[in-house]
Amino acid sequence: MSDTIAAISTAQGEGGISVIRISGDSAFTVCDKIFKGINNKKLADMKGYTASFGKIVSDGEEIDEAVALVFREPLSYTGENVVELSCHGGIYITKLVLRAVLDAGAVPAQAGEFTKRAFLNGKIDLSEAEAVIDIISAKSRSAARAALCVKEGAVRNKIDEVKNLLLSTAAHLSAWADYPEEDIAEVTDEQLYDSFDVSIAILDGLISSYDSGQAVKQGIDTVIAGRPNVGKSTLMNLLSGCERSIVTDIPGTTRDIIEDTVIVGDVILRLSDTAGLRTTDDKVEKIGVDRAKHRLKQCGLLLAVFDYNRSLDDDDKELIQSAGEVPCIAIINKTDLDKQLDTEYIESKIKNVVYLSAKSGEGRADLVKAVEDIAGMDNFNPSEGVLSNERQRQAVLNSLNSVKDAKNALEIGLTYDAITVSIEEAITSLLELTGERTSDEVVDRVFHNFCVGK
Ligand code: GDP
Ligand code: ZN
Repeated sequence: MSDTIAAISTAQGEGGISVIRISGDSAFTVCDKIFKGINNKKLADMKGYTASFGKIVSDGEEIDEAVALVFREPLSYTGENVVELSCHGGIYITKLVLRAVLDAGAVPAQAGEFTKRAFLNGKIDLSEAEAVIDIISAKSRSAARAALCVKEGAVRNKIDEVKNLLLSTAAHLSAWADYPEEDIAEVTDEQLYDSFDVSIAILDGLISSYDSGQAVKQGIDTVIAGRPNVGKSTLMNLLSGCERSIVTDIPGTTRDIIEDTVIVGDVILRLSDTAGLRTTDDKVEKIGVDRAKHRLKQCGLLLAVFDYNRSLDDDDKELIQSAGEVPCIAIINKTDLDKQLDTEYIESKIKNVVYLSAKSGEGRADLVKAVEDIAGMDNFNPSEGVLSNERQRQAVLNSLNSVKDAKNALEIGLTYDAITVSIEEAITSLLELTGERTSDEVVDRVFHNFCVGK
């Protein structure tokens, strides 16, 4: 019999109500010690999915009024008996109610313990558990939707499909190898290739969903670069909708890197407005320029800004050079002014070009579209399953490589035994992903990222 755990499950702060969650074999008896329903009914006698209104009483003293929701195993979040007490939302009151529940025999829940129990009781697999973190921390509509789809099994279904395919292939191969005298139909190479190719396609799809998923969830490391005064700070303000960096008419004022996170369409950009890229003798400015150049080579997206109203100079040309090294959008800014810029040259060198007036906002929609295109949003379909994190990506990658090994073994004519070894490795990686076969250490690490009450 496991402990009955309790924790405050709502955000800690003042609000209308707070929810204290209690889960475990003795959840009802623990709560019956402190919860007095107005109908005098014990929670232990109530059906699952029903509620009761009453008072929380501790040491003969009334602490608060509350609604108790009853969930009976296995039909609860954790798969155990669960009570959710909704009490008044003050921090003090909530802690007092939690104290009473603990005094009545529950123990404080560890971080993520409710979700961990859901995993251990087979309610969800590890990918779905991890999606719970993503849902909670989602900062954009797509991120939330992607996480919800994973929670509902989008990734698990794909993994199951590959797993079942590989399992039946491996079973067939070994049955045929182990019982040659039995009348088991030989697996044809065609069937083998077929199951490998299907598996590879599904796993490949999951891997490529990861990058777009990251753009939606973590954001893309984005550098805004261009020579002084082209309008970098103004562009940044346009994107973030607030005056964050200093906009001035004096070239070279934005000396350091300013960080900001903005949502452009469905994509999160982690922006830094860098020092203007120009050759300079000023020592402080030079440090800024050097740092900017360094960042520029590492970023996930470069917004290279040019001035429509000025002709190209050497610094612009250097920027065009760097544009070839990372994903880049050329932004021709100040289109409200007269044309002096050799835009044809830029168009010939950089694939994505957007015309903008950062000052008026004209062209912003084109910029949003360009950003979404580069982040692969047109191919991004949350319901197809998006891997949540590096752990999942690594497991899928390992599995993919093993399936490729199996296919390769078949191509060069190795024995069925050798092929089976690779297939089994591929299956093991998938079992690690879903948590069906995984070490306690990995499980602990996954739930470590949760906060208490989840
Ligand atoms: P930065 O040095 O690249 O960060 O450039 P700023 O954003 O500080 O802008 C320099 C000057 O250009 C400021 O006076 C801005 O108001 C002006 N500016 C920025 N964008 C535009 C634009 O689209 N049109 C016009 N006419 N002026 C702009
Ligand atoms: Zn600036």
